[in-house]
Amino acid sequence: MGRHDQGGFSQARYQRHIEEQVKDHVQRSCQSLFDYSREGGVEHLVVSATEEVRRLVQDSLHPQLERVLAGWITADIESARPGEVAAQVMEVAVRDREQADGDLIEQLGAGLGNGEGAVAGTQLVLEALNRHAVGVLLACPDLSGTAVVCPSCGWLGLEATVCPIDGTSVDRYDDLLEVMVEGALDQAAGVRLIDREEVRSRGCVAALLRFDPGLGANPQV
Ligand SMILES: [Zn+2]
Repeated sequence: MGRHDQGGFSQARYQRHIEEQVKDHVQRSCQSLFDYSREGGVEHLVVSATEEVRRLVQDSLHPQLERVLAGWITADIESARPGEVAAQVMEVAVRDREQADGDLIEQLGAGLGNGEGAVAGTQLVLEALNRHAVGVLLACPDLSGTAVVCPSCGWLGLEATVCPIDGTSVDRYDDLLEVMVEGALDQAAGVRLIDREEVRSRGCVAALLRFDPGLGANPQV
């Protein structure tokens, strides 16, 4: 009986030892992943884990990575062919992107409908950018046009020879999309190039706002 007890005891200890090792491995993997994401930026995270390990990963994942977690797959990394895993990951990422795009379009529709929280059309989006009110810039990938930028204060406009803020001669750019994207990134806004009718029909550009910049409800496109 003593032997049995001892056997049971070491079995339990062994089990605990394995669990500790798994936990340790998961925590270190999550830390490496976070370090990597800070260098390269991660848009969609798809994690492959068995059901048992999944909870450990959920507990160890940095909040920033949790936010971009697109989904889980249960591929057996030891035996799955890389192609199979890639296909599964792609499927989850595509679904995640479609979902995210759907949410953005829904927010846009609601914001424009309520007359707050969103603007559309080049003129209003530029004004929102000038007021640093943009949370997410939504633009069709083929948005074209010219823009002017004040080299002194960064004011953005469609047509002007001098900046209305400080009178500096503006620089003219022939890539409106690039000017808008840079303006959005400068104010730490999100940028989503999106080919959806809801954006295309509104001058190919719209913005979800962080706050109401008081632009009025002039639907100028
Ligand atoms: Zn200026």
